[in-house]
Amino acid sequence: MTERVDAIIVGAGVVGLAIARALALAGKPPLILDGEAHFGSWTSSRNSEVIHAGIYYPKGSLKARLCVEGKQQLYAFCEARAVPHKRLGKLIFAHGEAQLGELDAIVGRAEEAGVRDLRRLDGSEARGIEPALDCAGALLSPSTGIVDSHALMLALLGEAEAHGAMLVTGSDVGRVSRTGGVWNVHLGEDRDAAVASPILVNAAGLGAQRLAGRIETLDPLYVPPLHLARGVYFTYSGRVPFSHLIYPVPEAGGLGTHLTLDLAGQARFGPDVEWIDTIDYTVDPGRHQRFAAAARRIWPDLDGIRLQPGYAGIRPKVSGPGEPAGDFVISGPADHGCEGLVNLFGIESPGLTASLAIADMVRDAL
Ligand SMILES: Cc1cc2nc3c(=O)[nH]c(=O)nc-3n(C[C@H](O)[C@H](O)[C@H](O)COP(=O)(O)OP(=O)(O)OC[C@H]3O[C@@H](n4cnc5c(N)ncnc54)[C@H](O)[C@@H]3O)c2cc1C
Repeated sequence: MTERVDAIIVGAGVVGLAIARALALAGKPPLILDGEAHFGSWTSSRNSEVIHAGIYYPKGSLKARLCVEGKQQLYAFCEARAVPHKRLGKLIFAHGEAQLGELDAIVGRAEEAGVRDLRRLDGSEARGIEPALDCAGALLSPSTGIVDSHALMLALLGEAEAHGAMLVTGSDVGRVSRTGGVWNVHLGEDRDAAVASPILVNAAGLGAQRLAGRIETLDPLYVPPLHLARGVYFTYSGRVPFSHLIYPVPEAGGLGTHLTLDLAGQARFGPDVEWIDTIDYTVDPGRHQRFAAAARRIWPDLDGIRLQPGYAGIRPKVSGPGEPAGDFVISGPADHGCEGLVNLFGIESPGLTASLAIADMVRDAL
């Protein structure tokens, strides 16, 4: 006989776990299914771990609203649960005089998106707080920070489990059928459903489109395309003379090769943007020269030998190269008409920052 539960979440990344906590606290403790042996094995452990301020996202977009709300919720959550994090602050710098106008444009856009704490610095003020930075001027974002994403996921899972949620790893969901008002979740290609529920949340990240394509009764019209944009990091062995996160003005498809720090002070440069056809986390050591050149725009004295291939993450984008940047797609019954079903697509950056706000939105859609 098929087991029946209050809710099922497919995907135990940071977003799936945040939704699990929200549903558990709302009295609908979910079963969380993940195909990997450990939670958070995909994009949630292959990112910059930055708590974004919400500076770049278009006014009225889900990314803008959920990032600004999620940032505040995330700081409060981390403080209350002792999840390691730091409000380091970030500098967005103009490399030369010609880019100073772009800084003003960023301030305007950020204010529209609800971020009002940016401070404009001239070159000498910027060098006053980051002496090694070669720049004509900068913006200081004091509410940008970093978080230990693994500790965050552990805290979310712990709280969800304390309220009745259960995680089952090694459970790859192959398809979902619909009978008698419930979703029947089939593991792998199994003909018999393993578990059934009136509520199903597809938080499968890079696997969300594939899964959605196998949900009976869901019109494919409500499944956006998936485009893969790999981002590679190079790490720096040794100390760097920076205490803030350092970003150039943004470039197409990503934020430009920037310098982020982890909680141990280790620096990494990246991620770059490369459109790919299949999921492949290879880091090509041959990119060293390109990374060193981009890194030296931030830190001219960088020792190239200490710059080493790091890791890669893949952005699950809903828009392709040359198209306008897509928004998060959080598609509930009011959109597609399937009762009890929410699909999440395109949860790229700032998905980590926005995770708690995304979770509230999914809970409310159900
Ligand atoms: C290079 C890069 C840098 C980033 N930097 C930042 C940053 O600094 N700050 C920020 O806020 N955001 C950042 N992000 C975005 C952030 O990492 C993601 O938005 C977030 O991790 C997405 O979490 P998720 O739970 O949706 O997906 P994932 O973490 O990918 O989780 C999806 C889970 O679903 C499971 N799954 C998939 N298919 C199935 C199936 N059929 N059955 C069972 N399980 C399945 C997978 O095993 C996986 O565990 C970055 C992203 C990238 C790629």
